[in-house]
Parts: sequence; structure tokens; C-alpha cells
Amino acid sequence: MTEDFSTPYHTVIIGAGASGLMCAGSFNARKLIIDHNPRPGAKLAVSGGGKCNFSNLNITAAHYTSQNKHFCKNALAAYKNTDFLKLLDENCVPWQQLPSGQLFAQNAQDIVRLLVRRAQQANTYFKLNTQALGIKKDGQGLFIVQTSRGNIKAQNLVLACGGLSFPALGAGPFGVQAARAMGLNIIEPSPALAGFTFPRALKQHTAPLAGNSLPVQIRCGKFTYTGPLLFTHEGISGPAVLQTSLFWHEGEQVTVNFLPGTDALAFLREHKNAAKHFSALLAEKISPKIAKALLAEADVPAANATTAHLHLAAQRLNAFVFVPEGISGWTKAEVTRGGVDTKEINPSTMQCRRIPGLFITGELLDVTGMLGGYNLQWAWSSGRAAAKALEQIF
Ligand SMILES: Cc1cc2nc3c(=O)[nH]c(=O)nc-3n(C[C@H](O)[C@H](O)[C@H](O)COP(=O)(O)OP(=O)(O)OC[C@H]3O[C@@H](n4cnc5c(N)ncnc54)[C@H](O)[C@@H]3O)c2cc1C
Repeated sequence: MTEDFSTPYHTVIIGAGASGLMCAGSFNARKLIIDHNPRPGAKLAVSGGGKCNFSNLNITAAHYTSQNKHFCKNALAAYKNTDFLKLLDENCVPWQQLPSGQLFAQNAQDIVRLLVRRAQQANTYFKLNTQALGIKKDGQGLFIVQTSRGNIKAQNLVLACGGLSFPALGAGPFGVQAARAMGLNIIEPSPALAGFTFPRALKQHTAPLAGNSLPVQIRCGKFTYTGPLLFTHEGISGPAVLQTSLFWHEGEQVTVNFLPGTDALAFLREHKNAAKHFSALLAEKISPKIAKALLAEADVPAANATTAHLHLAAQRLNAFVFVPEGISGWTKAEVTRGGVDTKEINPSTMQCRRIPGLFITGELLDVTGMLGGYNLQWAWSSGRAAAKALEQIF
């Protein structure tokens, strides 16, 4: 039987990504999910390097940033990491747990296939290669979604179209623009979970280190994280930097401890009579190439070091301070920080307070998780919350 697009749907979901697919498969009603990509779950399929870091053993509101840090709690409590694990187990999808608590699939495609199958079983019709262009309401209060392949009417609408990161995978500004056009407040979106770019002088200085990585402790405001840092041609990246980028705001200072666990001043003082340069003395703790670049003019033979040299060297090793020029752009950022202001949304249902029948899920909302499976868990929990409320609407 061919699908009759002219009969209004119970629900239209814009975005066949993580939260849209979870929503579609979690309630039974005649619904349509549209996506401009030729396949559903494009971002999911490549997430976690193709293994989809779908959640984490340790999920709390503290792992998310938002103007309202409490907003995510209800949905996360109603649909937990263990609920998603149960779904995988019931459908024989293999997964594994890392010592860090991160939960991965063996193959991200398994999760995409499961979510698509589940959505189809719950009466969802897929309309792919179809771009949402605008949203209106008709005289009867139905939503009219204007698409590249005609208008579609629905009683309820779910905006599950994600953020702006990774345009190559289908991300774009539609969700933010449509929400703004409907009068919703937007927290200005910015790229996050990406590397820092350095100011020009510092970039020139560290560019030869590109490709080198080491464990560091990094601090920005009240946020501190210990993990790997990778030097890049633009500045720095790696897990510790990506996590920090989520909490950084323009103009803010970042401090890196390149020798976590070592008091550099005490160590250098202990070796103050050595003939070796500081960078060579530290060879067992940090690569001399990195130490040389960090220390610069403070890399002197220990025996010749003045008190000023000692303090400068120790500061550059234990508390290297800089102000990032910015965050690598949308093409590299894993997520979008900001989005639809959570004040507009009921935290238990994801329904828009001022526009009944309009639901917003996933990354489009001003809820952004840390690296480690938190963003996908938010997609599952928010998609599920919307579904449970939609189920009640006849
Ligand atoms: C490379 C990469 C790897 C990642 N890995 C992980 C990971 O391992 N773990 C983790 O927790 N998070 C990861 N993330 C983040 C995570 O994938 C997202 O936060 C999550 O997918 C957001 O779900 P969503 O439903 O809000 O949006 P998405 O999953 O992005 O889905 C939105 C969908 O809407 C569609 N769309 C957008 N605009 C339109 C339009 N105008 N018309 C029609 N369709 C439209 C898009 O094509 C897309 O399919 C990763 C992100 C990237 C970029």
C-alpha cells in the first residue's frame, strides 16, 4: 500500500537521528519521520569511531552543561543507561564496558538497525532525502511541515533535528531557525567538544609538536580534568581538551599542568647542581621535545639556573596559562552547546510550554553532555520522554 502523505499524521518527527529514532520507536501511533539524509542515523553510524559510545555507567546532571543544570534530571531518571542496556540485550545487540565506565556497541550499525526496526514496528513511515524547510500552523491547529517534497500535516511535531556540528553528516541550522521563527528563546549555539585554537604567536611556537600527546591536568574556571592532550597544528586537542571546551567561554583563561603528580619546582631544585638542561633532566617525566618547546628561554642547564629561571620553568610545566583564540569550528566539534532555551520546555515531556503539540529533543535543546556517551544518553532519554507524552495524546 502506498503511503498517503495528505492525511494528517498523529506525529511528524523531523530528524531520523538518535533522539528522533528513539522517540519514533517508543510509542505506537501513525507517524512520519523525515530526514534530508538518504539513510537514517548517519551520525549515530559513525559515532564513537563506528562503535557508538551509546552511554556511560555513571550518568548525573553534573555531566551536562545547560543554563538550567536541573533540566535534564527528570528525563535521565525516567530512562536510564540500564534501560538502554536492557533494550540492547533483549535484541541481542552486543556491547562492552570500558574501565572508564563508557559503554560501546561492537558496531554502531547494530544500534541504527535496531532503532529503525523498532520505529517501523511502532507504525512509523520514513521519508528520507526530504528536507524540512519551514513550519506553519493551519486553521485547525495542525502543524504544516513545508519540505523539499511537499507539505505534510500533523497533530504533533517533534523537532529532533540536532545541532550544527558536523554538517557533512546532515547537521544544520534548521532546528534553531525554526524554533526561533516560532518565537522560542535560543541560547546562542557554539561548537563544543573540540580542540582549542591558539593565538598566532603560541601556535607558531607549538606547531612543531603537532601529533605529540601526553597526559595532563587541565583547568578552566571550576572545571578540572585529567586525561590525554594532543598537540595539533592549530593548538591543542585530545580528550582532556575536548572536555574542557564544553565549559570554556570566550576570553577565559585555561591552565594546563603538563606534569600532573610532580611538583616541578621541588624536582628542579633537587637537581640544581646538574649540568643537564631542564628538558633533559625531565626526560623520564616528559618528552624532551615537548619540554623544550614549553620551557623555551627557561630551558637552561640546571647548574646555571637563576631563581627566576626555576620559577618560570616550574610555572610553565605545572601551570601553563593561555587564553584560547577559540574552539575548532563546526566541522570538527562533536556537539553544539546552547540551543533551545530549556525554560521553554517541560522537563518531563519535552513539550514546548507555549506551543502545545510541539516537542523538542536531543542536541537541539540547551543540554550538552561531556565526552563519554553522555550526549547519546541524553538523546535516548529526551526522545523517550517525548514519546511517553505523545502516547497520551489521541
Ligand atoms: C563524529 C561524531 C561522533 C560522535 N560520537 C558520539 C559518541 O560516541 N557518544 C555520544 O554520546 N555522542 C556522540 N556524538 C554526539 C551525538 O551523536 C549527538 O549528540 C546525537 O546524535 C544527537 O542526537 P539528535 O537526535 O539530537 O541529533 P542527530 O542524531 O544529529 O540527528 C538529527 C537528524 O536531523 C536531520 N536534519 C537536520 N536538519 C534537517 C532538516 N532541515 N530536514 C530534515 N532533516 C534534518 C539530520 O540529518 C540528522 O539525521 C558524536 C557526534 C559526532 C559529530
